[in-house]
Amino acid sequence: MGPRGPATLLVAGALLSTFLGGRVQAEEADNPIFTILGHSAHMVRRPALPLLVALLPALLTGCVGAPEPARRAPRMATSWTPPAAPEGRACLAGLSRTYANFTPLPDQYYGAGCSAVGAVRLAALRSDAGLLQLTNLGPVTCPLASTLSGWARFGVDRAAQQILGSPLVRIETMGSYACRNVAGTNRLSGHATANAVDVSGFVLADGRHITVAQDWYGGSPQARAFLAAVHGSACRRFGTVLSPDYNAAHHDHFHLEVGAGRQLCR
Ligand SMILES: [Zn+2]
Repeated sequence: MGPRGPATLLVAGALLSTFLGGRVQAEEADNPIFTILGHSAHMVRRPALPLLVALLPALLTGCVGAPEPARRAPRMATSWTPPAAPEGRACLAGLSRTYANFTPLPDQYYGAGCSAVGAVRLAALRSDAGLLQLTNLGPVTCPLASTLSGWARFGVDRAAQQILGSPLVRIETMGSYACRNVAGTNRLSGHATANAVDVSGFVLADGRHITVAQDWYGGSPQARAFLAAVHGSACRRFGTVLSPDYNAAHHDHFHLEVGAGRQLCR
């Protein structure tokens, strides 16, 4: 290093430090996610001297390469999602223990009070003998998925084996999430927060197909007993259960809902 080197570098260092330091602090103030980039910012604030010499011409002409990581910070922040809250993680762990096949979904807010927060996509549930398929099911909150999982195995599959002599292989639904009010009211439906599912039918391993629409009133005594048992066990697990007995809007499905804050079994 020549005799003029240290003095030149000192000035350059001061310039660079002021320039980058101001820039970095501004990013920190606006961007709560900045701590993720703390390491790269630290590196920028204290560049090695040879690197500083190399950067100086670029700095003075405004063509700065070094602060690029700090500039990218806001774009990173938009794609960052916070980890699930402790109760959310506990629910997912509990759902895993039921051997459900599921994928956690990112939180979604659709406006007008509609959302799917802490939701999962359920691919299959577990029965005594194997997997239970689900049809036409959209996102469901984890508490709904957990309740559904327990009901499917211990409420529905066991009832199918005991009353109809064949295990359950599939639960048919008419969907879960839908941004809408309870029919005829201005109150948001449990479907608007992915806390409700409409179950329309059941398929057994021997091929029999039991549906709410056909068998609740018109089925064989065994089919009606099966649906009554399934409905009864749902009432012990879900907050709100509505059947064809409730009103004509439910003539072809059971409405099963969690988290409504009130117990309703009709
Ligand atoms: Zn419903």
